[in-house]
Amino acid sequence: MTDQEPLRLSFEFFPPKTGQGREKLKVVREELQALNPDFFTVTYGAGGSTRDNTKGVVRAMREEGKSVAPHLSFGGDEEESIIELINEYKEMGVDRIVALRGDMPSGVGGALQMVHANELVSFIKKHFANDFHLEVAAYPEIHPEAISYETDINHLKGKFDAGADSGLTQYFFNPDAYFYFIDQCDALGITKPIYPGIMPITNYKNLARFSDACGADIPRWIRKRLEAFRDDHESIVNFGIDLISELCETLLDNGAPGLHFYTMNQTDPTATIVKNLGLEQRNS
Ligand code: FAD
Repeated sequence: MTDQEPLRLSFEFFPPKTGQGREKLKVVREELQALNPDFFTVTYGAGGSTRDNTKGVVRAMREEGKSVAPHLSFGGDEEESIIELINEYKEMGVDRIVALRGDMPSGVGGALQMVHANELVSFIKKHFANDFHLEVAAYPEIHPEAISYETDINHLKGKFDAGADSGLTQYFFNPDAYFYFIDQCDALGITKPIYPGIMPITNYKNLARFSDACGADIPRWIRKRLEAFRDDHESIVNFGIDLISELCETLLDNGAPGLHFYTMNQTDPTATIVKNLGLEQRNS
């Protein structure tokens, strides 16, 4: 933690598919707004598949006066279509974008040309100069497709060289992975802040499946503890709150510049963890 910069707090949502989901998210974002976040983000479905849903949630949140950053990737879109979308965001008063390569939508196979995130950053810079603060994804445990640690971190540097302003990490449970990664970024001359992504724990099976897909390591002792709870949801949640609160404390005590929560569109356990850390008071 530095003395100069206040800790940054952000919350991520995904765009709900149903009216019921959208209604629930309205309540969740009001509850999380009470924790005084710096901004929210809204994900973009693989290959741009949630383009309208993402835009709809971002528009609704702007109308409520919230600070919100859409995630964006080229997907299968033409340049003109991306420019049009970014212009719409600009008109809504959006001033931050999470710029990604994105993932391949399932079933598309190799038909879709994936555009690396550094190219999207350059593209936004070329057409919109400094209109947006650009966040990019970073992987303390290394992106699953990366050839090596070194190439992956060099590609991250490529995103900052292209004009990205800060990084948001994939979630992890081992703080040493983050600290080592930050040291390697420092050594490579990356000077922009990289905010740890935090995944609260509510369901072991989903977490294990998702972690295998995105390359996030769940340490053996955590797997064993979670497996032993079986269907005891309350124990899983309580264990998760303690574990993640402790992880966040370790991160912040050792210099992490803030936290980005993958809320999974739920107020809790994110809100409980933020309150455990006293973070909602950080600007007062
Ligand atoms: P890139 O930075 O392009 O990296 C992808 C891979 O290519 C890496 O292995 C990298 O080493 C390599 N690489 C990078 N640049 C180059 C280059 N110039 N030449 C050759 N190789 C290169 N996915 C979604 O679909 N929607 C979302 O909303 C979304 N939000 C996310 C938010 C966060 C904070 C994070 C961490 C991830 C998110 N993802 C999302 C997942 C992300 O899209 C995937 O991890 C995707 O596979 C990589 O995206 P990227 O932007 O990191 O890609």
